[in-house]
Amino acid sequence: MSDYGRRLVLLVFLGLSLCVKAEPGDRLSILLTPSDNLLHVKWILGSPVQAIRFSSTPFHFVHDQWKPVIGVFDYQLIDLVFDAPVQEIGAEIRVESDLVYGGFYTPFVNFDQGMAIYQGHYLPAALKTEGLWRDISTFDVDLQIEPVAGKSVVLPSGDKPRENLHVADKYRNYALLVEAGSEVGQQRVLLDSELPDWLYSLYKAQLPVLLNYFREYFETSLDEDPFVLVGYQQSADETRIDGGVVGGQLVINVVGDGWHKTSPGLHLKAITLLAHEVSHLWNANLASEDWLIEGGANFLAQETLLSLGLISAQLYEQRRSDQISRCKALMGEAHINELSRRADHYVCGESFFYWLQGIGPDRVRELWLKLAKFRNESRLIKELMADVLRDDPALIHASMCLLYGDRCETPNLRPAQVFLPSHK
Ligand SMILES: [Zn+2]
Repeated sequence: MSDYGRRLVLLVFLGLSLCVKAEPGDRLSILLTPSDNLLHVKWILGSPVQAIRFSSTPFHFVHDQWKPVIGVFDYQLIDLVFDAPVQEIGAEIRVESDLVYGGFYTPFVNFDQGMAIYQGHYLPAALKTEGLWRDISTFDVDLQIEPVAGKSVVLPSGDKPRENLHVADKYRNYALLVEAGSEVGQQRVLLDSELPDWLYSLYKAQLPVLLNYFREYFETSLDEDPFVLVGYQQSADETRIDGGVVGGQLVINVVGDGWHKTSPGLHLKAITLLAHEVSHLWNANLASEDWLIEGGANFLAQETLLSLGLISAQLYEQRRSDQISRCKALMGEAHINELSRRADHYVCGESFFYWLQGIGPDRVRELWLKLAKFRNESRLIKELMADVLRDDPALIHASMCLLYGDRCETPNLRPAQVFLPSHK
């Protein structure tokens, strides 16, 4: 969901690499050659490297599916470490699995007319040269996809299918591998026709409703219509669903053997995920904090589904009080930004929005509109929050205490206490 990279790790590398400037020869070419069952990946360096780190690629995916042709994996760090500096590295990757990897973009999403490949997984986070780890941003990177004959690759940016596709700076998105001559690339919404009927009908009916809802909520249209792909793979795997939004693409992957028959639980899971992902088309580019983006999307999903009559007030209330209780238990004396697990940010971020809305029903929307308005001016969330809370010192104190631990000492406030009923 949203950016699945392990931001903390990336930030550390960014920090370490700020003093290292790109030099001629600091080039990385990535060549992907997909066929039916294997993806061949080649990393070609402008100058020799000692190791490559893939910290924003799912660990289990690398561990189970990648077979290095040259090099040795250190599975702890998802590093490819080489005995001697190398300029060319190759790996074969099995593509039959399109399992849902929690917290990461699904590497391969199968749908009836082809397969979507998440290219971002082959982009390293850092490279080690002369004993020093350097962030990938200090390299000139070039990514190219070359499919086997009879197949075409298409980027859902509207490009026509081609035999070879040079994607350059668009590598953090999905590319589609389809039959040559297929019209798939011209479509903006691809719902796998093998989806169970109830799920197909649900998504087909509700996607435009949700897009319209958020367009009005955020008072803005998207730069271009989103590309939406929902893949389905019936398999013996656990019944799971996951999705993500990246670069105007919304991809949902449905796998497992339990989807053919609907149930209130599956219905709720499917519509909640869709609402969460559609909200990301608007909210994901407004800030970088997980509590805000992911917690915000969870909150927006609940609000939207309630407004559209897709969930009952009872379900909404149950979710609201569950999330707040979970967050209270997580926080103790800590504040939201300090929580260590990413998933905890989701829970407490969502709870924060319930709290904010309890103060005044229009405050949440006001915050999103301000975030949208000031997104290019890098104004601090803290400042925007002060605007939204209308300079009420007690409320500003409470929100700063809850989010950042600032001002908790006055007036004797602890983060978890912010959720006390007096603020509902
Ligand atoms: Zn998300």
